[in-house]
Amino acid sequence: LVSRKNKKENTVINIKGENIGDENPHFIFGPCSVESYEQTRAVAKSVKEKGLKLFRGGAFKPRTSPYDFQGLGWDGLKILKEIAEEFDLAVVSEIVHPSHIERALDYVDVIQIGARNMQNFELLKEAGRVKKPVLLKRGMSATIEEFMLAAEYIVSQGNEEIILCERGIRTYERATRNTLDITSVPILKKETHLPVIVDVTHSTGRRDLLLPAAKAALAIGADGIMAEVHPDPAVALSDARQQMDLGQFDMFFKEIVEK
Ligand code: PEP
Ligand code: MN
Repeated sequence: LVSRKNKKENTVINIKGENIGDENPHFIFGPCSVESYEQTRAVAKSVKEKGLKLFRGGAFKPRTSPYDFQGLGWDGLKILKEIAEEFDLAVVSEIVHPSHIERALDYVDVIQIGARNMQNFELLKEAGRVKKPVLLKRGMSATIEEFMLAAEYIVSQGNEEIILCERGIRTYERATRNTLDITSVPILKKETHLPVIVDVTHSTGRRDLLLPAAKAALAIGADGIMAEVHPDPAVALSDARQQMDLGQFDMFFKEIVEK
C-alpha cells in the first residue's frame, strides 16, 4: 500500500495548513524534551516568529539509560498543547505505548513513532487505526525495506497519513552519532508515495553539521527537515550536545531559507 506502484501521485499531508509532500520544504523544530513550560515556550515563540507551524517536543522519552530523564509524560503533553494553542502551532510528539495513542489524540497533531519503536508492531497497528498523521522514524539498524514495511503496518490498518523520517543508522563510524543515510531519501521517494523528511539532529549528533546536512537533505529531495532547539542547550536534560540555542536557530533558519 505504501508502494509507488500502487499510487503514482505523492501523498500530501495537511497539518494545520502545512502541506507536507508538496513542492515546498517544511520544518519541524523544537526541543528534544519538554522540560518546563518556560523552556518549551521560549522555543515555540522562536518557531512562531519564523512563520513556522510545526513544533516538536518529547514528553515520553525513550532513553538508553533508565537513570536518565524520562520526560514529563502527560504533563509534558499538556504543556505542549497549551503553548501550541497560544501560538497556533501544530504539535509533533512521540508516543511510546499502544494504549496511549487514543488519549494522545487530544494533545498532538502528529504522532511520532521513534527509532527505537519502529518495529513495535502493536504500536504501529494502533497508530494505523486512528485518524491522525504519523511521523515514523527509521529504526537505528533498520534497512530501507524494513522501514517501508513498518509504514505498511500503519497503512494496512487504514491510516495513510505517514511522514517517513530518516534519522541516521548505526554503523562503525563514530565521528557522527549515527550515519546519515542520505540516499535513503531518493530511494524512499522512488519506492513509496509518502513524504520523506530528514532529522539532522539525531543523525549527525553534531551542531556543526546541522546546516550542511540539512542543505544536502533538501538538495537530494527531502520534503522537510527536523532539528532540535533549546534555549540553553548546556543544561538540557537530553541531547545537550547537539541542540541549537536560539541564536544558532535563527542563523540556521536564515541560511537554509536563503539556500
Ligand atoms: C526524538 O526525535 O525525540 C528521538 C528520540 O529521536 P529518535 O527516535 O530518532 O532517536
Ligand atoms: Mn533528541
